[in-house]
Amino acid sequence: MPGGVGLDSQTVRARMVHKLVAQGVSDAQVLAAMGLVERHRFVDSALVNQAYEDTSLPIGLGQTISKPNVVARMLELLRLGAPGRLGRVLEIGTGCGYQAAVLSHLATEVYSIERLRGLHDKARENLRTFRLPNVHLLFGDGMMGFAKGAPYAAIIAAAGGESIPPAWIEQLATGGRLVAPMQTATGAQALVVIDKTAQGIRQTLLEAVHFVPLKSGTS
Ligand code: SAH
Repeated sequence: MPGGVGLDSQTVRARMVHKLVAQGVSDAQVLAAMGLVERHRFVDSALVNQAYEDTSLPIGLGQTISKPNVVARMLELLRLGAPGRLGRVLEIGTGCGYQAAVLSHLATEVYSIERLRGLHDKARENLRTFRLPNVHLLFGDGMMGFAKGAPYAAIIAAAGGESIPPAWIEQLATGGRLVAPMQTATGAQALVVIDKTAQGIRQTLLEAVHFVPLKSGTS
């Protein structure tokens, strides 16, 4: 393995997990999954030494992989209140496939959709060695969700638009939860949590975040 993460990437990951705990992540399942997935295998060889640092990293085609802290925070929000494993989860924005790999340990099935062919192919390549039979990579416009896999226990987006696409809400199961970045009234981006209950939709706006834009169509 190239660079300093080298032989002992497990130690470096354990250090990352300790840092996540110090930053306030407390969900044991999320921490375990973050400790398992070899993040350095998802970034270019020139960036391997930064793979476990608390920083976002370029993954090609102008896109980025979120910092570990943001990934953990969103997954923790997604799991909140859910006993055991989540059921079927939809991820919008596969990118390099890192978060899909983490999700594979937290959900029964993961459907992950990417609009850029180059990244969809890259994620397929990256995930091949991990042999995660419950991860399904899809190429397409995630703004329309993926109706065939619906309803989803959870939906998570790694790209932020001006609003939450209606298809996502439709495809969310009753009792399900959606976590996504979204533009707020001030034009800034914030994390939004949407709970779909038998009584209706409950939306909670959380902290400011910086995600790549949600774009329609494929390329
Ligand atoms: N979860 C990813 C993060 C990727 S960054 C990872 O772990 O690497 C967000 C991704 O969302 C980008 O790859 C971008 O191309 C993708 N994206 C943006 N709009 C999209 C859309 N409408 N449908 C699917 N993917 C989209």
